[in-house]
Amino acid sequence: MPRGNSTGLMGANLTVDGGIPLDMIKMNKILSYEPNNLTMTVQAGIRLKDMEEFLADKPFTYMPAPAMHWATVGGNVDTNAGGLKAIKYGVTREHIRELKVVLADGKLYKFGAKAVKSSSGYSLKDLIIGSEGTLGVVTEVTVRLYPRPKEIINALIPYPTLTQAIKSVPAILASGVVPTTVEFMGLKVIDLWESYAN
Ligand SMILES: Cc1cc2nc3c(=O)[nH]c(=O)nc-3n(C[C@H](O)[C@H](O)[C@H](O)COP(=O)(O)OP(=O)(O)OC[C@H]3O[C@@H](n4cnc5c(N)ncnc54)[C@H](O)[C@@H]3O)c2cc1C
Repeated sequence: MPRGNSTGLMGANLTVDGGIPLDMIKMNKILSYEPNNLTMTVQAGIRLKDMEEFLADKPFTYMPAPAMHWATVGGNVDTNAGGLKAIKYGVTREHIRELKVVLADGKLYKFGAKAVKSSSGYSLKDLIIGSEGTLGVVTEVTVRLYPRPKEIINALIPYPTLTQAIKSVPAILASGVVPTTVEFMGLKVIDLWESYAN
């Protein structure tokens, strides 16, 4: 059973019925950064945190933002991790162009393609994404990059009732302004936050 950084909350990398855990953490290299086709190829054991550090001074970024930055990209692929930016950019699945995977026959296969237009044939890449290590071992991942947004604006909007807050979300989306993130904070959390942050 492949094992990323073991941050998964479901224990999906545990070999409960016996078996061999396969630690991927040393397969952590960046293999290519290709701004011309908006992709980056990494080994599956690299942590999100290290990808973010590599991209920090570049004009392109990797958009999915699961809160656990120590997770590996292979673990993100096999749990199809989501994150706060899902409302605008989708979850990990939407950002994977190509996977290299070792299947049970011991052979290395390539699923998907770096090109955006790769539509015919079975989408085996999508079968691997979210399969929690049950179908094969992901060794290489080509992700899609986005131009880094030039401006980021935060809006803090108070609502008198929870119902009004909830109803405003589809209205905001329908207005054509798609926020990167929409987060709800109740009054109790705001009070705790204010006393913590003074
Ligand atoms: C504090 C915290 C916040 C989190 N926030 C979010 C969040 O916002 N959104 C969200 O969706 N998730 C979140 N998670 C869960 C997170 O997505 C997973 O922890 C992460 O994706 C797992 O990555 P990992 O490298 O730790 O993999 P592991 O936990 O080691 O493994 C997870 C699964 O992936 C498989 N796997 C790992 N590597 C490979 C590989 N190379 N090839 C094939 N299969 C592999 C394993 O077999 C297992 O089934 C959070 C977790 C924590 C602890």
